[in-house]
Amino acid sequence: MSTGQLKIHSENILPIIKKWLYSEKDIFVRELVSNACDAIKKLKILRDQGLADYEDEGIRIDIRIDKEKRTLTFSDTGIGMTAEEVEKYIAQLAFSGAEEFVEKYQSDKSEDQVIGHFGLGFYSAYMVSSLVSISTLSYQKDASAANWSCDGSSEYSLENGEKEERGTEITLHITDEEEEFLEEARLREILNKYCLFLEAPIYLNDERINETEPLWLKAPSECTDEDYLQFYRKLHPFKEEPLFWIHLNVDYPFNLKGILYFPRMRRDIDLNRCEIGLYCNRVFVSDNCKEILPEYLMMLHGAIDSPDIPLNVSRSYLQVDRTVRQVGQHISKKVADRLKSLHRSDKEKFLESWKNVELIVKLGAIQDEKFYEKVKEILLWKNTDSEWTTIEDYLERNKDKNSDTVFYSGDEKLQSALLETYKSKGIEVLYTNPWIDNHLIQYLEGKLSPVKFKRVDGSLDDSILDKDRENTVLDSEGKTQSAHLAELIKGHLGKEQVEVEAKSLASDQLPAFIMIDEDQRRMREYMMSSNPDMAPEMLSAFAKQTFVVNTNNSLVQSIQDLNKTDPAIAKELSEQLYDLTLLSQREMDVNALGTYVSKSTALLEQLAQKLVSKPAS
Ligand code: ADP
Repeated sequence: MSTGQLKIHSENILPIIKKWLYSEKDIFVRELVSNACDAIKKLKILRDQGLADYEDEGIRIDIRIDKEKRTLTFSDTGIGMTAEEVEKYIAQLAFSGAEEFVEKYQSDKSEDQVIGHFGLGFYSAYMVSSLVSISTLSYQKDASAANWSCDGSSEYSLENGEKEERGTEITLHITDEEEEFLEEARLREILNKYCLFLEAPIYLNDERINETEPLWLKAPSECTDEDYLQFYRKLHPFKEEPLFWIHLNVDYPFNLKGILYFPRMRRDIDLNRCEIGLYCNRVFVSDNCKEILPEYLMMLHGAIDSPDIPLNVSRSYLQVDRTVRQVGQHISKKVADRLKSLHRSDKEKFLESWKNVELIVKLGAIQDEKFYEKVKEILLWKNTDSEWTTIEDYLERNKDKNSDTVFYSGDEKLQSALLETYKSKGIEVLYTNPWIDNHLIQYLEGKLSPVKFKRVDGSLDDSILDKDRENTVLDSEGKTQSAHLAELIKGHLGKEQVEVEAKSLASDQLPAFIMIDEDQRRMREYMMSSNPDMAPEMLSAFAKQTFVVNTNNSLVQSIQDLNKTDPAIAKELSEQLYDLTLLSQREMDVNALGTYVSKSTALLEQLAQKLVSKPAS
């Protein structure tokens, strides 16, 4: 037996490893299983060169739990190690890697995974163990077995071993605190996460873990739709079926394979969560693809496998890495191409999928200029005739009627009466999805200047007025009928800050609407999103209201007539109309709702009493 001193200057390397990797302790499983897999791959290379001989059937990796002894064993039938190799690779090399790690990262607070990259792989076992031992027999002819063990201090023992079969067995004595790793279910969960697509057969207590070949390794021409769907179920069990997918296969200027799926969007989508698994040579590394993919692509599902993405290095480094940037750009191009080709080849399917891909396309357009240029021909909106259109086509169609102006409505139902007004004048309006389109509109105005987007309740465009029915005759006071009506209503409302205008609108149906200047409303939305707790009074200062009453509407006309005989009821009706308008446009302050309800009840009571005292004859 020989004992040795680990080649290391820092005495407390293991406590540092433990502390550092605290957040993701389960990666020790990944590290030990991938080492075992590497050992098997190396053996295969030697066989290919005629330097080793073995039968494929014997090749396997076994993970066994012994609850009584509190041990976890990882054994493989790979290349094995001689005592000299254990000394060299485990005792010296690995720790020189560890030293480098400590020197480089001791002051860095980030919890990035540095395992593997710095040769720390094997030592990650100490995150959960009080003692680790290795029993190994090299593939080499006449090799003798070796046993190594170390309790995490800087001393280890190395002696002749008794192992008779080629390969390596690593036994972890699990500490009391890390008992969870002696649970079979927990181990299975970890193996399923990290090792599902590894090449060599992996068994946990004799039960096979990995049976699926990663489909991304196959040529796209050999994969059927069913293959893709089945593979999706493997990657994302319990998720709804995806819409379509892209099979990535890049050799130059970097290596990357993968399959990305366009999922059905769920309402509770979390934009900060990435659902794409990152793999390095079939080993799952992370699902944190934030630094690799732009935000808008993180909504995709699937897997990317690349040995070229420096997956283990620190995040700040990842961001500037050229390969990483190229990977993001390549994938974004492929996504745009896939969507465009679907739009060309199967418009129906594309439109059916639109509500699912809309967010990706629109967010991408806002966040990435190159992506916008690629997808602008499929950046669609539905119009008032229920047809899908791009902005370019809209502008072209309407250039004589409303040049450089795009009318839009954020809510088809809420703004239906106002939309009728537009419709009656033959003005095309686009329906938007306020959640995302408000940002996109801002972006497009910048890109397509001088084009302006105007929400239907944002201005009194000439196009929605009926000039012919406008009464322009001035009375003895030099005022029109409309001016009098506006004055009257303003007086009844008694709200200093609310402007009132009486206009001859093209459609008679709509009695009134609240107009808020487009720019001011956007400012208010911005304030609301950046400061959600802002008081409503403060917000209203950003968006001055104009209450527009329609001189062609019979209710409005009745209020004007009633005012001559019963100004009190005309006042109540004016207030009621104003409140109803606020309510219908979702502009009513929640605090005002109570007053509105009691006022409405009182008005109904009044009406009922009148009807009771004057029964129908
Ligand atoms: P890395 O895998 O990044 O090289 P490790 O610390 O995980 O770093 O392993 C150090 C070395 O020990 C490996 O490169 C390999 O030569 C050897 N080794 C580790 N595990 C095994 C194993 N199961 N079979 C054979 N050799 C192994």
